[in-house]
Amino acid sequence: MTGTIVGLVEGPTALEQVADEVRACTRCPLAARRTHAVPGEGNLRSDVLLVGEGPGAREDATGRPFVGPAGQLLDELLRSIGWERGDVFITNIVKCRPPGNRDPEPDEVAACAGYLERQERALDPAVVVTLGRHSLRRYLPGARIGEAHGRLRRSFSGQHVFPMYHPAAALHQASLRDTLFRDMRGLPGALLDARAAIAAELAARTQVEEATGPAVIPSPSLDEAAQMTLFEER
Ligand code: URA
Ligand code: SF4
Repeated sequence: MTGTIVGLVEGPTALEQVADEVRACTRCPLAARRTHAVPGEGNLRSDVLLVGEGPGAREDATGRPFVGPAGQLLDELLRSIGWERGDVFITNIVKCRPPGNRDPEPDEVAACAGYLERQERALDPAVVVTLGRHSLRRYLPGARIGEAHGRLRRSFSGQHVFPMYHPAAALHQASLRDTLFRDMRGLPGALLDARAAIAAELAARTQVEEATGPAVIPSPSLDEAAQMTLFEER
């Protein structure tokens, strides 16, 4: 094993590199009209990744995710469980603002997907919290937000996903506010469940490797060891 130290150094560095590339990116038409690209921000060592849809006006003006009205509600939601933004990492499906806050187009989502993939790999989150439909669709295609929200699910690739409504939806539809706060109260427990499942799977895999290891990679006999030494000396 290369050890956790490598992960600790490479994770944050990889995230910073993604952010640099996003700020210079011209891979899709959204680049042309942005003021600032919004790579994402938060705790570079968090195991909770929040994924929204795309920057709005204020995000575009500042280069930071969820700093407008929806962001204020997100802050409140996090505070309601004793968390703050610095405890999580927050990003979006597309990193540049769709004009007039329209939905991102499929080709824009596809062009931007590689950045989110690299952010996921660097953070290796225990839980991905999806905010809204576009984010949900990436992890659980075919899931309906009305049924999926507030419950921990596994994606096809095995990620633990905790779907939530988009905070902006509650700004338009007041009844969703209570739902959002109720779902948020379930997040700490979902995180603990996800961490426990990941630890149990790791332990099971390690046991299998320990049990099958010697059979798969036989240790060299004395003769073979001697031959290897001879070979290296030539
Ligand atoms: N809405 C989003 O989906 N993302 C932001 O960053 C802000 C508002
Ligand atoms: Fe690049 Fe994504 Fe911005 Fe498009 S939305 S220009 S792919 S960073």
